[in-house]
Amino acid sequence: MIELDGATGEGGGQVLRTALTLSMITGQPFRIANIRANRPKPGLMRQHLVAVQAAAEISNADIGGATVGSQSLQFVPGKIKGGEYRFAIGTAGSCTLVLQTLLPALLYADAPSVVHITGGTHNSMAPPAHFLQRAYGRVLAEMGATVDIELKRFGFYPAGGGEIVARVSPCGQLRPLELMTRGERLSGYAESFIAGVPADVAKRELASVQTAMGWDEPQLLIRGLSHDQGPGNALLLTLEHQHATDVFCAFGEKMVRAEDVAKKVISQVRQYIASGAAVGEHLADQIMLPFALAGSGRFTTSYVSRHATTNAEVIRRFLPVAIMFENNGAFSTCVIQK
Ligand code: ATP
Repeated sequence: MIELDGATGEGGGQVLRTALTLSMITGQPFRIANIRANRPKPGLMRQHLVAVQAAAEISNADIGGATVGSQSLQFVPGKIKGGEYRFAIGTAGSCTLVLQTLLPALLYADAPSVVHITGGTHNSMAPPAHFLQRAYGRVLAEMGATVDIELKRFGFYPAGGGEIVARVSPCGQLRPLELMTRGERLSGYAESFIAGVPADVAKRELASVQTAMGWDEPQLLIRGLSHDQGPGNALLLTLEHQHATDVFCAFGEKMVRAEDVAKKVISQVRQYIASGAAVGEHLADQIMLPFALAGSGRFTTSYVSRHATTNAEVIRRFLPVAIMFENNGAFSTCVIQK
């Protein structure tokens, strides 16, 4: 039984999510105390509880302590089963973080899977569904995984009600990957998704992006959504390069000017571009787990967050790999080896 302390490093929900994924794949049971100890409301929130229940369902696990607010949990996995699954978060909690927990495990299932998850699809502090499709999904595909993520309906905070559907085929073993350079830019575009928010907000966000990035009209896209998917607004910038795609985002909020929403996302994009790294901060902490499952690999990133170093600590508890970060000035290199 692997004993984990949820207060490790950043002390958030990622310690639990990574443990669930790797417990299912490796068959090693774990116990975790102090779940999300460093968060204002510690313990399992709806989104984390659904991740636990979903992981238990797909791996036929025995669980103890799986209730909202619980700060400790025991998880004893069985065999991972492919099939059709439906999970509802019931709040605007992030569907994508639940999917992030299940997806690598389903690559090791005995049959293909279709997973429907309802809740939030575009939340701050979580990967937007488009990020999983374009950025994370591309890396998995290059490692040999066949995964298709469909965004059926947007779900914004606080209403939720969005839906994603993931189709995952088992792949046996992920292939090691080296992502040291991003290569030439193939495309760059900004999308302002708006539901139940005046169109002027999207126009102003995109005008700020145009000025800052020097982009042309065809690169600036207003994506109007039906009112019943809102209210909500997400501004996404996608940079597709020869070797990697990354997606950066910021969310419109009441009392926050459209220009300030644009500023937030532009500063992330500028930092990424200036670093010269292959992947940005968020993609870095998310691809580390599939890289570790492949047994080796390397990538460069614009920033090694505390989230990433914490995730590395948890991964090392389950897999026989070393994960090292080298600072190379404007960027860092993450090296994974046996
Ligand atoms: P909680 O304790 O509430 O579950 P946490 O600390 O586990 O939160 P966060 O640090 O908020 O979680 O991040 C969760 C995951 O979401 C990380 O993998 C992070 O990279 C990812 N993420 C956050 N924001 C973005 C973003 N804008 N784009 C892509 N991924 C993101």
